[in-house]
Amino acid sequence: MPPLLYFFLFLHSLSDAQTVAYPPIPGTETAPDCSLSAPTTNKNLIPTRREVYDDGRIIDITHRYVTSMPAFNSNEGVGQFLWLPASMKNGSIANNSEMKLPAHTGTHVDAPGHVFDHYFDAGFDVDTLDLEVLNGPALLVDVPRDKNITAEVMKSLNVPRGVRRVLFRTLNTDRRLMYKKEFDSSYVGFMKDGAKYLVENTDIKLVGIDYLSVAAYDDLIPSHLEFLEGREHILVEGLKLDDVQPGIYTVHCLPLRLLGSEGSPIRCILIK
Ligand SMILES: [Zn+2]
Repeated sequence: MPPLLYFFLFLHSLSDAQTVAYPPIPGTETAPDCSLSAPTTNKNLIPTRREVYDDGRIIDITHRYVTSMPAFNSNEGVGQFLWLPASMKNGSIANNSEMKLPAHTGTHVDAPGHVFDHYFDAGFDVDTLDLEVLNGPALLVDVPRDKNITAEVMKSLNVPRGVRRVLFRTLNTDRRLMYKKEFDSSYVGFMKDGAKYLVENTDIKLVGIDYLSVAAYDDLIPSHLEFLEGREHILVEGLKLDDVQPGIYTVHCLPLRLLGSEGSPIRCILIK
C-alpha cells in the first residue's frame, strides 16, 4: 500500500473513532474518566449546573438527559444519544453534535397519536398540543405513597374545580426511579378508573407525573386511552419533582415542534 494512502486511511479511522466516543462533560458526576488526551479546559472554566434559578424562584423540573437514565421496559437505560461527527479537535471549524433519542425519553409529553392510531394518522402530533394548557397556574400535590392513583385516591385528593394543571408527586420521587438505569415496572401511576375519574369529575387538563408513564404498568394502555381519547388532556411524564414544596406555582412546559411525532422531550419549569 502506498504510504500516503495508508496515512489517509489512518486519518479516516481516527475520525471514525471521534464520532463513536462523546467527550467527557464537565460539571457532571457521571463524566467518563477515560479521556486519553489532556483536558483542555482551564480550571477556572467550570460551568454551573443548577436545579433552581433566581434564589429558588425558578425551579427546573426537567430531568437532565444522561446516558444512564431509564428507558421504558429496558434494563440498559437510554445509552449513548449524542455523537460528535464534526469536532474542532479533529479539524472542523465548529463542534456539531448529533442526537438520536426516542421521543418518549426522560421528561417528555404524549400527544393523542401515541395510543390512538387514527389520531396518529390524522396528525394529532406534539405540534398540535395547546400551549395554553402547558403553561399557567398549576398545583403540585403529593399522592398516597402506598397505592396507584385510583378513582378513590383521586376523590380523596379533593382537587378543587377550576384547577386545570396538576403535577402528581408519588412514591416514584421518593424511590428516585428516574435516576435508576434499570426500568422498574412497580412504579406508581394512574389506574384506568383513576384516569376516568380525573377526566369526568375534574377540570384538570394537564396531568404531570414523576416517572416514564402516567399510567400504572398494569393499566398501561387503558389509562392512556381514558386520558387521550378526548384530545383535551396533555400528559407530561418523567418530571423531576424532588425538593419542591407542594402548592401552587406557575408551570411552563414547552415541547419541540416535532411534526408527526406523538411524543417529544419537553422542558418544564415551575415559578413560585
Ligand atoms: Zn410518553
